[in-house]
Amino acid sequence: MLTDKFGRQITYLRLAVTDRCNLRCQYCMPAHGIDIVNRKELLSFKEMYRLTRVLSELGVNKVRLTGGEPFVRKDFINFLKSLSFNKNLEEINITTNGALITKHISTLEKINIHAINLSIDSLNAEKFNQITRRNVFDQVYKTFETLAKSKLQLKLNIVIQSGVNTNEINDFVELTKYKDIAVRFIEEMPFNGKGLRITDENWNFNKIYAEIQNNYQNIISLVNKKSSTSQNYKIKNYKGTFGIIPAFTRTICHDCNRIRITATGMFKNCLFDDGVFNLRDFIRNGASDDELKELFISTVQQKPKNGFIAEANRKNKKVFESMSTIGG
Ligand code: SAM
Repeated sequence: MLTDKFGRQITYLRLAVTDRCNLRCQYCMPAHGIDIVNRKELLSFKEMYRLTRVLSELGVNKVRLTGGEPFVRKDFINFLKSLSFNKNLEEINITTNGALITKHISTLEKINIHAINLSIDSLNAEKFNQITRRNVFDQVYKTFETLAKSKLQLKLNIVIQSGVNTNEINDFVELTKYKDIAVRFIEEMPFNGKGLRITDENWNFNKIYAEIQNNYQNIISLVNKKSSTSQNYKIKNYKGTFGIIPAFTRTICHDCNRIRITATGMFKNCLFDDGVFNLRDFIRNGASDDELKELFISTVQQKPKNGFIAEANRKNKKVFESMSTIGG
């Protein structure tokens, strides 16, 4: 089992299957994109399958596939199919921008993908296209509607950007009136290739909650699942729920159960660390499964207490990465 020195058990892997993305979201990367790595530097699906299998033998029972945009990587669906045969995995989830997936939704249902997190930062086509710097709102909205009717659990991810989409917070909450979906507002982080958040005004957890509270009197606090990244609520008699993810204020670290592997195989104990071990080189140099297990067990021991300590311990003090490199 993977347990850190604070007694937190690691059961959840976030695996970035690529650093490439078809969108250029303002808060995630510059207009010209990020420096993508040579294809050979990316983990192959075979390598990802092996790392996931070994971790699943150490107690990891939940995997989120992310990126970059996972669906831009060729053969991603076949990779998902192979992962779905791993009986140690109770949940396989995907985070996607939804622009390329409408035609794959029935396959995702068939292979028992558990939940899709769909990133959709605005319900206004023009604004959405400005945020993403691509003309894909209609496609993403179609994906949203198809997913909402599917048997896949649907969560919407909305990064709250001051002066951009804060006036839509209550519109998103209103979406939960008739749809059994989970809408989640994410605090903006400085992972955009520049090292600073793009917006000045601090739309943190409390401010987002206050905005909703000003509009609704009948908010019910829900009991969160252990290690949930969001604090969850619902409006009385509404079908769905809403949540706030304190990604930047980092009040969720005490029961963190997550580790990350980036598309180039960098192992991360925390979103805010700058990577602690290159798994790709380790396995390409012939590491056995037992050596990998020993490595995971000892590396997880180094997991910092929280995201602030992880940030303070970085070798590169400034956070220059894009979420697309890290794997969101
Ligand atoms: N391409 C997929 C997508 O758009 O969902 C997966 C990768 S994306 C990096 C994963 C999540 O990270 C998305 O929900 C995105 O909105 C979020 N994200 C990216 N940059 C962020 C930032 N600077 N602050 C907060 N969330 C961010």
